[in-house]
Amino acid sequence: MPNAKCEKCNLLLDDILVKDKHYNRFIKLMKERVVKFAGFPCNITPGIRHNEIVLDNSWICLNNICDGVLYYQPFTPSPKKYKFSLDMI
Ligand SMILES: [Zn+2]
Repeated sequence: MPNAKCEKCNLLLDDILVKDKHYNRFIKLMKERVVKFAGFPCNITPGIRHNEIVLDNSWICLNNICDGVLYYQPFTPSPKKYKFSLDMI
């Protein structure tokens, strides 16, 4: 734990972060947008959207591009492939 989930397509990070470039982009966006209170991350604003991680030219079908926002899921098991925790931001 934790994980993050797309509000629109309900995919978790394991399915959203398919390649290293997606993971690197995700971490970079979090670092740029995190709002900290007393040194602890308390919000990511604006929210990171699915199509900011998987850019438009990577979608197999352009009609399926998802622009849902990813929400933090504190009680969902961690992604298997890519490490994710608030300590990283
Ligand atoms: Zn999505």
